[in-house]
Amino acid sequence: MDNRSNVLMQRYELGRLLGQGTFAKVYYARSIQTGQSVAIKVIDKEKIVKVGIIQQIKREISVMRMVRHPYIIHLYEVMATKTKIYFVMEYAKGGELFNKVAKGRLKEDVARKYFHQLINAVDFCHSRGVYHRDLKPENILLDENENLKVSDFGLSALAESKRQDGLLHTTCGTPAYVAPEVINRKGYDGIKADIWSCGVILFVLLAGYLPFHDSNLMEMYRKIGKADFRCPSWFPQDVRKLLFRILDPNPSSRISIARIRESSWFKKGLSLKSKVQDAESSTISLPDTDAAASSQHENASTSSQDKQDVSSRLSNLNAFDIISLSAGFDLSRLFEDPCPRKEARFISRKPASIIISKLQELAKCMKLKISKRDAGLFKFEGTKEGRKGFLSVDAEIFVLTPAFHLVEMKKTGGDTLEYQKMFDDGIRPGLQDIVWAWQGEPQPQQHNPQVEQQDELPPD
Ligand code: ATP
Ligand code: MG
Repeated sequence: MDNRSNVLMQRYELGRLLGQGTFAKVYYARSIQTGQSVAIKVIDKEKIVKVGIIQQIKREISVMRMVRHPYIIHLYEVMATKTKIYFVMEYAKGGELFNKVAKGRLKEDVARKYFHQLINAVDFCHSRGVYHRDLKPENILLDENENLKVSDFGLSALAESKRQDGLLHTTCGTPAYVAPEVINRKGYDGIKADIWSCGVILFVLLAGYLPFHDSNLMEMYRKIGKADFRCPSWFPQDVRKLLFRILDPNPSSRISIARIRESSWFKKGLSLKSKVQDAESSTISLPDTDAAASSQHENASTSSQDKQDVSSRLSNLNAFDIISLSAGFDLSRLFEDPCPRKEARFISRKPASIIISKLQELAKCMKLKISKRDAGLFKFEGTKEGRKGFLSVDAEIFVLTPAFHLVEMKKTGGDTLEYQKMFDDGIRPGLQDIVWAWQGEPQPQQHNPQVEQQDELPPD
């Protein structure tokens, strides 16, 4: 496979496979622009379309992008192609925390440090209404400074659908970290369920093995349901007390995070400095990527008329908005104005130069004036005055992937009904040669190996 196919959206160079889960593969990658290391989680759209959780994922992503905490893997941006969704995340260089435990149980102070960081991260997200619901070793990572990083926060739709599918039992092998009320499929409180999982994690850090374990799955469920576990002899009294309060099978009497913080084992060795640090870290900020994307757009040169390289100057839709624009997802109705419509979008598989020629040809046929406003932005203006002045329409071309462009047509002046008629009678039929799919309408089903190649990833 050549080097070009390892480059994602002209922005990230994909490297080795870091790991694989139920819905996704995670790759190491580097930003071509800044050289920054990132982890990219690649999800098959088809898989999540099948389980019907797109809208929920979309909501959760928008929350996740706003949650920033030193012990939570930061989601930098989300991108999409026809078949895949890419989560570009902070890269945790230290790998999974449990690789450490696999080498032997941790010293009490080290376990306490990680438990503090875990509780801080979980509490912070809960305060923002975000639950994890899938806290387990694979999601507890470390950075290069041996600080904990929780991943997959906010993707509870994925965790939930795994359970409803019964996949919890087959793919993940063990429900060892899952609270009894979750296993019993009674309605449950995400906060309390996360607290239970934190208790299991604390036990594993200190003991080096699981509190609930049995080769027979039913027996394991029984043990979880009754919180039937035994602390090894080296567990100090105060941590035993704390664990019994966390691993309480009844969610309503289970200890809260506030009370965990007050427990004597938790408070031991908690310096003033780390308290201040935690207070300072609990801020929400929006990711920088949006700003970067818009400045990239503004800086686009308008002077050159050369159509050949125009595609390199078009706006790249790097945002997660692509998911909602993608015909495969068919979320279009959520975003459309009620009739009559003032805007329309289509996806084209033609190069930008062909799209531009077609727009110019269309203007000529329909006796409209056309002018170029920016790289990839064109303005059509009517030559006859209508009910509300002259009609004007913006057409903007965006790069989705090197093989796909998105064209957005928007009425910017004149009467909407007149525009609608002009659109239906002139613009739409006039563009049919270059349209692959109008947004909100079914995507053509033909198979094209070249298109599939766009989504290829390096071999594992
Ligand atoms: P599940 O299917 O339940 O989500 P999982 O959490 O193991 O299981 P993924 O979230 O897809 O699956 O992650 C797969 C593996 O990739 C993880 O086990 C982890 O080792 C690695 N990984 C995930 N995110 C990162 C990251 N940000 N930095 C480094 N490694 C990561
Ligand atoms: Mg994970």
